[in-house]
Amino acid sequence: MDLQAKLSTVLGGRTADALRKGLGLLTVEDLLRHYPRRYAERGELTELDTLRVGEQVTVLAEVTKVTVRPMRNRRGSIFEAVISDGRNSISLTFFNQKWREGQLKVGRRGLFAGQVGRFREQLQLTHPEFELLPEGVDDGGLSALEFAGALIPIYPASKSVTSWQLKKSLDIVLESARELPDPIPDAVRDEHGLLGLTDALWSIHRPTSRDDVRRAVERLRFEEAFVLQVVLAQRRAEVMALPATRRVPETSPLLDAFDARLPFELTSGQREVSQAIDEDMARDHPMHRLLQGDVGSGKTVVALRAMLRVVDAGGQAALLAPTEVLAAQHYRSITGLLGPLAERGRLGSPEVATQVALLTGSQRTAQRRSELLDILTGDAGIVVGTHALIQEKVDFNDLALVVVDEQHRFGVEQRAALTAKSRDGSRPHVLVMTATPIPRTVAMTVFGDVDVSTLTELPAGRAVVSTHVVAVSEQPAFVERAWQRAREEVVAGHRVFVVCPRIGDDVDEGAEDDGSVPAGEDDEGVADGRSRAASVRGLAARLADGELSGLRIGTLHGRMTGEDKDDVMRRFADPEAKDPIEVLVSTTVIEVGVDVPQATMIVIVDADRFGISQLHQLRGRVGRGQLPGLCLLMTDSDPESPSRERLDAVASTTDGFALSALDLEMRREGDVLGSVQSGRRSSLRLLEVARHESVILQARESAFAVVAADPELSTSPALSEAVRVLIAQEQADYLERA
Ligand code: ADP
Ligand code: MG
Repeated sequence: MDLQAKLSTVLGGRTADALRKGLGLLTVEDLLRHYPRRYAERGELTELDTLRVGEQVTVLAEVTKVTVRPMRNRRGSIFEAVISDGRNSISLTFFNQKWREGQLKVGRRGLFAGQVGRFREQLQLTHPEFELLPEGVDDGGLSALEFAGALIPIYPASKSVTSWQLKKSLDIVLESARELPDPIPDAVRDEHGLLGLTDALWSIHRPTSRDDVRRAVERLRFEEAFVLQVVLAQRRAEVMALPATRRVPETSPLLDAFDARLPFELTSGQREVSQAIDEDMARDHPMHRLLQGDVGSGKTVVALRAMLRVVDAGGQAALLAPTEVLAAQHYRSITGLLGPLAERGRLGSPEVATQVALLTGSQRTAQRRSELLDILTGDAGIVVGTHALIQEKVDFNDLALVVVDEQHRFGVEQRAALTAKSRDGSRPHVLVMTATPIPRTVAMTVFGDVDVSTLTELPAGRAVVSTHVVAVSEQPAFVERAWQRAREEVVAGHRVFVVCPRIGDDVDEGAEDDGSVPAGEDDEGVADGRSRAASVRGLAARLADGELSGLRIGTLHGRMTGEDKDDVMRRFADPEAKDPIEVLVSTTVIEVGVDVPQATMIVIVDADRFGISQLHQLRGRVGRGQLPGLCLLMTDSDPESPSRERLDAVASTTDGFALSALDLEMRREGDVLGSVQSGRRSSLRLLEVARHESVILQARESAFAVVAADPELSTSPALSEAVRVLIAQEQADYLERA
C-alpha cells in the first residue's frame, strides 16, 4: 500500500476532508503516524478532577444519573446526565434532546468528548460528542474486535474530529496496512531488537497491553531518530565528496607575527580548536565545523588565526556577521588586533601585512567599488561583511575560508557558504561560530552533519559578572539604588547598557523582529493583564529627565539605519569618542557579539519578557575587559511565576551550558528545534531531544554505518523513500516560515 496516497483514496471524501481540515492529515502515512496521546483502560475511568476549564477533552466515564427538566424561561427541555469516575463527576447538558434518555442510561460507560465548561461551580460538557462502549463491557463478555483490546486509544482530536472518528478511520487504514515496507533495514532492526513497522503501527494503535505500547513506541521513536540521522549522514557524505583546496602554508609569517603581537596566551582550548581547524583545512574536501563557546570564550581569536593561516597559504577569508553593527565591530576588532599587520601597502607596514576589507549595505558606491576591487585582486586577505556577502556573489580572487558568525538561520546559511566557489571550482572551508551553547543532543540532531568544537573555559583573568534580580514593586529602593549605581559607573568612566523589550510606544513599534518578546505580549500585554513592556524611546526619555539626568544617553534599535547604528555603537564603544555615549538604551540588537570592554553594567528592564538564553547573551555584553560586571534583571513579574524562576536561574549561574540545558527543559520541544532550525520539528513525534540521548546516539551510529556502506541507499528503497519524504517536508516547512 502506498503510504503517500491521499486519504481520500482510502476513506470517504467527507472523512478525508475533516481529517485534513481538522488535523492537517493528508496522506495515509499522516494518519498512521497520528499516534494516540494516551490510552484509557477499560476498567479504569479517567480521573475527572484533572480536567481544567477550557480544555478539549476525551474522557472515559460512567453515567451515574440522568434528569430531564423543562427550561425555566423558554419552552423546551434540558437533558442532563452526570458521568463519574467513581469519585468525581461532571455533568453533560443537552438542550431539547430528551431522546438522549434512550441512549445515556445509568450504568453505561463511554467516551465523552468536548470542551470543559463550568456552570454554577460544576464542571460540564455541553453537547458533548460521545461513544458508548458496548453494554456489559466490564463482564468480559465482549468479542467484537473493536473492544477486544484492554486499552482504548485516545487520539489528539479537534473540535470537528473526535478521537473515535480517528479510531474508525484508522481501523480502515490499518486493515490494508499489512505488510508495509520498513525504512529500518533488517540488520539494524535485529541489532536493536526492534519491532517491524507494521507490527509497531498495529501495536501503537491497537495495543492489547502496555507492553505492546512500550515496544511500539520504542521502535517508532528509534525510527524518527534514525531517518533523521541518515539524512545528516548523507549530507555529511556529500560535503566530503566536494573538492576543496588544501590550505597548508609552507611558512606562516603573518600568523606568527600575529601570535607574537597577541597580548595574552591562548587557552589550551583555543590551541586545540586551532589545531583541529588546521587539520581540517589541510584536507582536499571542505572543512565543515561548528565552533561553539560561551560569550567571551575567545572564538573570534580562533577564527582570526584560521583566517591568517589561509592568507599565509595564499588564499582569502570571509567573515560573515548577522548584522551590520556586528560586521562593523568585527572589522574594528580585527583591524585592532592586527594593528600594522592589516596595513598592507601603507608606508612602513610590515612586509607580511594583509588588508582587511569591509563590505556593508550602507557604504557609498565609490568606497564599495574600491573594496570590491581589493577583493577581486586578492589584496584584501580578509573580507568582513554581513551574511548577504555570499548571496551577492562578490568576486574573490581565491576564497579559501568562510567564517559564519552567529547565524540567524542555522544550517541554511552554513550550507549556502559551502556553495560559494573559488576560482578553480573548489569549495571554501567553512567554520561556523555560535555563542548560544547548544546541548549535545540538539547539536547531534541539528548539526549532525558537522564537526563540533567547543570552547569550555573562559580565558583566565576574565572579570566576573554578578547578576541580581530586582523586583520592581517589591523592592522600590533597589530600583532607585540601581540607577544610582549606573550613574556611579559612568562617573568612574565606564559604560552602561540598558535593555528594553520594545522600541517605541506606538502599537506598530513592537519588539525587534527577532522574536525577543513572546508572541501575544508584544503589543498590549493585555493577555496576561500586565502593563505594556518598557520601550527604548520611552525609557530613554524618562531616564534623561529623571534618574540619569545629565548623563549622555543614546538609543539603539533595529529600525535605525546601518549608518546610524554604527555611529551610536562607535560613540558608545570608543573611550576616545568626541561626543561619547555613556548610557546606551537599546533593544536586543546588542545581543550577540557586541564588545565594549568599558561596559561594566547592564540593566535589563522587564527581564521576564526574555528567554533564558537571551538573558545570558545579554549579560555577556559586560565583564568583557578587566573590569567586573554587574547585571540587573528588573522585573515586575509574580515571584511565584515561571518567568521569575527563569530569572532566578540566570542569576544563579554563569554557566551557559547549564542554562541552555535548563532552557531546553523549560521550553516545549518544538520551540527548541524550531528556534534552531525550521523543519525538523514536524517529523519528530515521539523523540524528545532533551530526553532521548541514548536513542539518538544508537540511531546515529547505525545510520552512519548504513550510509557508509550504501551511500545511495539502493538496497533500502523504503529508507530512501522515508528520507525523501523527510527532506520534502523540511523544505515545505522552511518555505512556509520564510
Ligand atoms: P567570543 O567571540 O567567543 O565572544 P572573543 O574572541 O570576542 O570571544 O574574546 C573576548 C575577549 O577576550 C576579547 O577581548 C579577546 O581579545 C579576549 N581574549 C580572547 N582570548 C583570550 C585569551 N586566551 N586570554 C585573554 N583574553 C582573551
Ligand atoms: Mg565574538
